[in-house]
Amino acid sequence: MRKKLIAGNWKMNKTSADAVQLVKDIVAASPKEQNVEVVICPPFTALESVARALEGSAAKLGAQNMHPEASGAYTGEISAAMLRSLFASYVILGHSERRAYFKETDAFINQKVLAAFKNQLKPILCVGETLQERETGATLKVVQTQVEQGLLNVPKDVATSVVIAYEPVWAIGTGKVATTAQAQEVHAFIRGLLTNLFGDAVAQKVRILYGGSMKPANAPELLAQQDIDGGLIGGAALEARSFVDLINAAAAVK
Ligand code: PEP
Repeated sequence: MRKKLIAGNWKMNKTSADAVQLVKDIVAASPKEQNVEVVICPPFTALESVARALEGSAAKLGAQNMHPEASGAYTGEISAAMLRSLFASYVILGHSERRAYFKETDAFINQKVLAAFKNQLKPILCVGETLQERETGATLKVVQTQVEQGLLNVPKDVATSVVIAYEPVWAIGTGKVATTAQAQEVHAFIRGLLTNLFGDAVAQKVRILYGGSMKPANAPELLAQQDIDGGLIGGAALEARSFVDLINAAAAVK
């Protein structure tokens, strides 16, 4: 009932020209008809060229971050309206790298989530525990706080277009993937939180992605879990072959 979603987070990789080439390779290698939603999130500098390269394809454009204010003296920042004007449909918010390196708090991320909705952008809200938090048994508490604070004041009527990405920090870019049981446990827990916040009908429609060293080899088992509705892909999104294999893995799930 939930359409699988595969999103590529290119992080700080690819010039505009390299980005266009990668998108062309992805589009050329992807089946035309697909029951999977595909989102490509290049760096800001490549949004416009990637939007053009995606014309005629069903894949959607996403950004990796934005500022909550509409405009003003925020040197180096980009607003939601600026992203919409480049045809972005999605925006990744609260990625663990932004939380860790740029000290983003749940309250700040929440302002961005609300600003995204105001501008018809769908947020991909990232949550997840560090290794130390997992080892001290704090995983569910940490994830609960990030989900509840991140979604504060989100109206119920737009909540179905929220996407949550569960990304254990210790699995991002490390080659260490969460076991399917570990991932499914947290995904089911997040769905329970969404039920408490918005009711069961909404919670059943929200896509919850797994992120953290997802590759074509480990994807089929992860994507077959009841509450895993797709993937947020870092490293494996930077090559057309592995990204398309991930799309195909999602399409193959019954
Ligand atoms: C990410 O940064 O969102 C991510 C999942 O990265 P990787 O796939 O490289 O672990």
